[in-house]
Amino acid sequence: MYLRVRRPYRARMPVTRRTLIRGAAAVTGLSAGGLLLPAPAFAGPAIYNPFAGYPITDGWQEHLARGSLGGIDFAMPVGTGLPACGAGTVTNTPFNGTGGHTVTISHAEGYRSQYLHLSQFLLANGTGVGAGAIVGLSGGAAGAPGSGSSTGPHVHWHMINPAGVRINPLEYIANNPAPPAGTSGPMYHQLRAASGSWTGFRPLNGFQTSLPGNAKDMAVAGLPDGSAQVAIIGADDRLYHRVRQANGTWTEFQPLNGMGTTSPAQGKRVAICGLPNGSAQLVLVGADDTVYHRVRQANGAWTEFGRLNGFGTTTPAGARDVAISGQPDNTAQVLIVGMDNGIYHRLRQTSGVWTEFQPLNGNGTGATAQGSAVAIAALPDGSAQVVIAGGGGQLHHRVRLASGSWTPFAPLNGVGTTSPAVAKDVTIAGLPNGTAQVVIVGADDAIYHRVRAGNGSWTEFNSLPGQGTTTPARGSRVALAGLPDNSTQLVLVGR
Ligand SMILES: [Zn+2]
Repeated sequence: MYLRVRRPYRARMPVTRRTLIRGAAAVTGLSAGGLLLPAPAFAGPAIYNPFAGYPITDGWQEHLARGSLGGIDFAMPVGTGLPACGAGTVTNTPFNGTGGHTVTISHAEGYRSQYLHLSQFLLANGTGVGAGAIVGLSGGAAGAPGSGSSTGPHVHWHMINPAGVRINPLEYIANNPAPPAGTSGPMYHQLRAASGSWTGFRPLNGFQTSLPGNAKDMAVAGLPDGSAQVAIIGADDRLYHRVRQANGTWTEFQPLNGMGTTSPAQGKRVAICGLPNGSAQLVLVGADDTVYHRVRQANGAWTEFGRLNGFGTTTPAGARDVAISGQPDNTAQVLIVGMDNGIYHRLRQTSGVWTEFQPLNGNGTGATAQGSAVAIAALPDGSAQVVIAGGGGQLHHRVRLASGSWTPFAPLNGVGTTSPAVAKDVTIAGLPNGTAQVVIVGADDAIYHRVRAGNGSWTEFNSLPGQGTTTPARGSRVALAGLPDNSTQLVLVGR
């Protein structure tokens, strides 16, 4: 089963029916800019605990107490897939003394992670992996080949710092925490030419400042005139919009008003798409978790926000994430992660009339697929390409054909593995040449990109370097849009 199903679908009410705006319109000091200055970078590579679901049978101190150099033991059945705790390069060391079969992941900045007592290696030496890629199978049964000194099924995990000293991975993670959801980061933009070359990330200035700005979420849409429309949730939770014109010049950020008020809208997530008729469709998860929609007409005028009702109810839909695609026939398709973590889809007809939200089933089940992030993009053939970070963040793709029928969810593999990539955020763009491009924030917070050719075949994920470095860019939110010249515009909430 591809998609973890937690419970059957149940109609979901929004938490409140408050309007978007909160607080006064007064603007002073830094918050007047709304977009704060970048926070300091992390001290080391991003690592997560892939074994959080398994009991610790022997902790760090217990290891030291019995003369070990340190480690943490997680009990799990022999043969359990061992996900990489962070991006890096794999080295296998068979029969590594008391450690038995040992896999080492060499991360950025001189850090390493080691898993001991494996029953099986899966990847060749030198394989590059993203976080979440399965690097081997657990072992540890007493006396089994590869178990070393282990007396029972488990994996032993420790890290090694750049000085060569063993360190406690859970302590490392605690000292290098991933920012909680809703944390802002610096805004970046870059362009991928039709040839496939990238300009590299460049900072975007904030509202009413020439300094780099911060945002919590970003969205971008391509329009037929070659412009790109950028919408963001600023560090102040306000909704801002700006345009990158076809000649590469930018208008300044302007706040967009909330529903029934001249004060700026406030929200958590934003998505925007362009239509062939020159309009842009914006969907917003408001500060009240409700889904709102408005249209930027081709002449630049905005309609007012309206609420979108939920599945099987006339009350507004609540959502954790939102995505929208502009189809060649001027319809738009909206995808959300509901408050129940279910994935729902609806369509806005050219007339402006909406179909109702419908749950998308997981494969081989009548239950609603579950996920944490959604993306959708249109192709010239009228299809919609859907990518979700499903249960556990595992990346899956499916297509809604122009006929309205759906292909099954298929996993998208991570770097150097046939296992699904694990993503914290995902975006997809469709291009006039029939290709689609996917960018994700991996489990290690690095930014990865891949291309789906018109024939449906995929290139592998490649990490995108950060500004002024060859190491992967890191961030929390990504958005991608295709332009008529087959270039793509990428915006990133960085670290
Ligand atoms: Zn151990």
